[in-house]
Parts: sequence; structure tokens; C-alpha cells
Amino acid sequence: MLTPFDISCPYCGEPIEILVDASAGDQHYIEDCQVCCRPITLSIQIDEDGEPQVTAASENDV
Ligand SMILES: [Zn+2]
Repeated sequence: MLTPFDISCPYCGEPIEILVDASAGDQHYIEDCQVCCRPITLSIQIDEDGEPQVTAASENDV
């Protein structure tokens, strides 16, 4: 099941909606910002309730 999740781009601050597959477990991937096209590092962790927790970081923060 894909869960829509709103994040803010760490570069331009624009809100971006991503789709998270909570059944896939913890994930770590890069998605280009739809506004400024810079690569956002996404860390997704599934908490005990099965809810995804999403952290968006710029490439330089990693
Ligand atoms: Zn951006």
C-alpha cells in the first residue's frame, strides 16, 4: 500500500508529495525535487505502528 507523504525540499523549501510503500520496510533513496530538480536524500523508517517516518535531507547533510 502506498501512503502519500508530504515533505519539504531541503533546498528550495517547496512542499513535495512522495508515495511511501510502508510494507517494504525501511528505505533509503534519492528523489529529485520536482521544483528545483536537486537530489533529496529520503530516509524512511517504519515505526511500531506501521506508520512511515520520512526524513528529507540535502545531499550535503549525509
Ligand atoms: Zn527543491
